[in-house]
Amino acid sequence: MAAKKSLEGVVCLNHPDTPATARCATCAKPVCGQCAVLGGDQVFCSGVCRQNGLDSAVVVNDIMQIKKRGDFRRRVLLLLKLIILAGLVYAGWVYYNRHRDEIDSKVKDLDSRVKSIDIDSKVKGSVEKIDKSFEKLDKAVKD
Ligand SMILES: [Zn+2]
Ligand SMILES: [Zn+2]
Repeated sequence: MAAKKSLEGVVCLNHPDTPATARCATCAKPVCGQCAVLGGDQVFCSGVCRQNGLDSAVVVNDIMQIKKRGDFRRRVLLLLKLIILAGLVYAGWVYYNRHRDEIDSKVKDLDSRVKSIDIDSKVKGSVEKIDKSFEKLDKAVKD
């Protein structure tokens, strides 16, 4: 075990003649079996370290729980969005299939209407209008 190996030749923090059996889970100081303070399934060098260790364990636990809850909520939201999106796509597909002829004829109608608009003559008309207003402006400036 790595933990036991790292204690080879290490003596207790309070008893220089006694080999250490464990390291404090909070401050990592070596302690012998007599000095070890047990807390949960961990070993500490003192009551203060045990309290700190347990407190931080509780905090870490809380953070993990909050994070897990947040992850869960985010996953549920994502799933809901996907379901809604899939539903919309499906509804659109069903709608298109049911009204395919109607939609196709509308698209064709729109297409022909767009084509029937004489864009060229309209553009020419506006260009002429702009030219005329520029001429007027020119005259006004010269006068
Ligand atoms: Zn300690
Ligand atoms: Zn000791």
